[in-house]
Amino acid sequence: MIDKAVINQIQNTVGKGNVALDKETRICYSYDATNLKYLPDLIAYPTTREQISETLKLANEYRFPVIPRGAGTGFTGGTLPVQGGVVMVLTKMNKIWQIDRENLFAIVEPGVITYDLQQEVEKIGLFYPPDPASLKSSTIGGNVAECAGGPRALKYGTTKDYVLGLEVVLPTGEIISTGVITAKGVVGYDLTKLLVGSEGTLGIITKIILRLIPLPKSKRTLLAIFPTIDAAATTVSQIISSKIIPATLEFMDNACIRCVEDYLHMGLPVEAGALLIIEVDGAPEALSVEVEEIQKICQANQAIEIKVAKDNQEAEDLWKARRAVSTAVVKINPTKVNEDITVPRSKVPEILRRVEAIGKKHNLIIVNFGHAGDGNIHVNVMIDKRRPGEEERAHAAVKEIFTTTLELGGTLSGEHGIGITKAPYISMELGDMGLEVMRRIKKAFDPNNILNPGKIFPEKQTKQVHHL
Ligand SMILES: Cc1cc2nc3c(=O)[nH]c(=O)nc-3n(C[C@H](O)[C@H](O)[C@H](O)COP(=O)(O)OP(=O)(O)OC[C@H]3O[C@@H](n4cnc5c(N)ncnc54)[C@H](O)[C@@H]3O)c2cc1C
Repeated sequence: MIDKAVINQIQNTVGKGNVALDKETRICYSYDATNLKYLPDLIAYPTTREQISETLKLANEYRFPVIPRGAGTGFTGGTLPVQGGVVMVLTKMNKIWQIDRENLFAIVEPGVITYDLQQEVEKIGLFYPPDPASLKSSTIGGNVAECAGGPRALKYGTTKDYVLGLEVVLPTGEIISTGVITAKGVVGYDLTKLLVGSEGTLGIITKIILRLIPLPKSKRTLLAIFPTIDAAATTVSQIISSKIIPATLEFMDNACIRCVEDYLHMGLPVEAGALLIIEVDGAPEALSVEVEEIQKICQANQAIEIKVAKDNQEAEDLWKARRAVSTAVVKINPTKVNEDITVPRSKVPEILRRVEAIGKKHNLIIVNFGHAGDGNIHVNVMIDKRRPGEEERAHAAVKEIFTTTLELGGTLSGEHGIGITKAPYISMELGDMGLEVMRRIKKAFDPNNILNPGKIFPEKQTKQVHHL
């Protein structure tokens, strides 16, 4: 617990109206999308970088944890106060400072909602591509801290490809600016890249310079239904190897199709093995050729049905299936152990076959969907904790899925980060020395380990936890 006198100092620093101590509010900030719960001591809603800086200086003096938080949609527990302390909510810092049409960048505060920024820049024909499915609630600060991706990562890359520079309050309270607003810049170590994806462990981001690009002139959306997972996965590989890079290439397996149909009643064939939602964008003339080519590849892989959206409304309707999947699958079993492994694209058919075999071996229901075009599969082990032994079998299955992923040249997380849920597995990928170098970097930034402690690095007291 933080001492009363220190709480007074925090209130003086951030402003009494920007601090909450009551249990009801603290409970609201005790969980994120993992549904794990840890109660914080205090919630602060700073409005300036100076307030953040002063609070961090107090944290070093009195040794209490500070945990940055955006919208709390993280899937790996990054914003959970696992050791108590101050949850610092950045949502009041939500200004779009500048959109520069000539130099193609925007400067924003961390609390700006991703979708709001996209709407603003699209009004003037510009484009900010990163599109996590949570974009209507997640913040740009949270996206930068997690290096969020989304369906469009296939063609446009992830958040890190758009961050030109940052303003960051260091864990010790000093404020630094990194990066540039120019198209190029190679002065010193690339601290911007280090901070992107650092999951709120190296600094609190207070300003972000984002690269913008021209908005594509048009797009076409297709939905293709396949008899088997293998046929869909082979289609993905063949589209990419035919040198077409769609903006998105999303995948859902039979269990997802059934759940979504049950949830939305949109006429999806529940016997189908898998479906793909494919979107291409660019100049209209080029798109017709690409759509034709994609249809041919789908047909050659026994597609049962191919729907090409005639207009934006029909395209939106096709996307409904994909957007509903996260919510719809919980119907199978109440608890979802949600991993986001990524393999080289050509290995998508193999990883799906091997995940299926692991599910059978451990007698578990595993449903798969995700961004198949970039090899990022959301593998969801659906469990009911009330059934004896199911949780343990899920942990064993996850470990085997990770081992298989690494064997195929993949990575444990394509976009959700490590947080607490994947911390026990991190050295499987990085090795002991890789992890040690990261510990040294953390120590250089945060000698007293006050900023978001207990994240990324496996700790003895960190239980092997998932989205339970
Ligand atoms: C339904 C759903 C769909 C999702 N789909 C996707 C998807 O398609 N792609 C994807 O990548 N993710 C997805 N996510 C995960 C999540 O939305 C992203 O990780 C997102 O970037 C988190 O943003 P947030 O504002 O909610 O951050 P939070 O959850 O509040 O925080 C996430 C991490 O960022 C840190 N942080 C937040 N703000 C700052 C700051 N200003 N400075 C320093 N650190 C900070 C926190 O400490 C924490 O470690 C999804 C989540 C849900 C619930």
